[in-house]
Amino acid sequence: MTTKIPITVLGATGVVGQRFVRRLANHPLFRVEHLAASERSAGKRYRDACAWRLDGEPYGGLGDQVMAEGTPEFALSPVVFSALDTEPATELEPAFARAGAMVFSNAGAFRMSPEVPLLVPEVNASHLGLLEVQRHHHGWTGGIVTNANCTATVLVMALAPLHEAFGVEAVLMTSMQAISGAGYPGVASLDILGNVIPFIRNEELKVEEETPKMLGHFTGSVVELAPMTVSALCYRVPVIEGHTEAVSVKLKGNPSIDAVRKVLFNWRPEPQRLGLFSAPAVPLHVHTLEDRPQVRRDVEVDGGMSVHVGRLRPCPILGLKFALLGHNTERGAAGGSILNAELAHAKGYLR
Ligand code: NAP
Repeated sequence: MTTKIPITVLGATGVVGQRFVRRLANHPLFRVEHLAASERSAGKRYRDACAWRLDGEPYGGLGDQVMAEGTPEFALSPVVFSALDTEPATELEPAFARAGAMVFSNAGAFRMSPEVPLLVPEVNASHLGLLEVQRHHHGWTGGIVTNANCTATVLVMALAPLHEAFGVEAVLMTSMQAISGAGYPGVASLDILGNVIPFIRNEELKVEEETPKMLGHFTGSVVELAPMTVSALCYRVPVIEGHTEAVSVKLKGNPSIDAVRKVLFNWRPEPQRLGLFSAPAVPLHVHTLEDRPQVRRDVEVDGGMSVHVGRLRPCPILGLKFALLGHNTERGAAGGSILNAELAHAKGYLR
């Protein structure tokens, strides 16, 4: 029997933090050593600090664990999963990396830092090599690996095989995003029920910046941004979990819909070949029914770790259009981060 790696969850009381705890409670590789959040939560039992809002065993069975102060002095483990808001993450994540932890972060603080991998294991596993650059640059023994904005994560899962096979030149993406994406309590019910809100602060910019980084080429020292134009329009809709995206893409050579479908259908990238614990057997479900994917029917498949594509058809402007769906707090947050750590382990980056 192998010894499990001790981990810390920072931001353990939040929307994403609770999903970390639920996923990590029975993980074959990791065991929860510390739970931490803000100073409001430190010293309390997890059940008293956290209003648990998930199904399954409440508090992941850790309700009696006393929450640590969220600093390296009190909550250092070899692996740290961060579900912190961006502001505290800016200070705390480098402090943990400096103290020797490998930090797998959901926050936006370091996603676009040139020496930080913006990782989706199916898409850009090689970018983990940036950790060597990062350690050299900062003199850290630990490191920071981020996952992308949840909307961008879902988008690149469909773009990556197309970029590899044909080359993506331009993307127009309109999102219909779940309210859980705003954390808890998120958008007031009086604002979102029966409504669509055409504004999510900074979201469009994040998708436009992060997509070319994730699809970029790692030279061994830097990631060269993929040469493509991305335009995003982001809307909040009254859905609890699951971001839907309407996507038009310009591909080099304007391949047929059949050729595109075949590429998406046959895509089996590295996490699937390695059999990583949190990797779904099929990363992209290609739907053929004309009214799928749908949030209510598809978003929880594979524990929210697979992405769904459907309605593949010609676009008179860019060549190809389709519908996409992915789980924002699983694939786009906690589950994605844990998969990042599993890949790092498989590649020898974890002690
Ligand atoms: P949330 O529900 O608002 O939770 C925020 C967490 O941060 C709580 O545990 C809170 O602890 C802690 N916190 C707040 N201020 C702190 C401070 N000064 N020091 C230490 N801890 C502090 O937010 P969320 O939706 O889980 O999002 C967490 C992060 O994941 C954010 O950076 C977000 O951008 C990112 N993310 C979210 C999603 C999503 O779909 N929700 C997707 C991808 C990425 P207390 O309970 O003690 O206040």
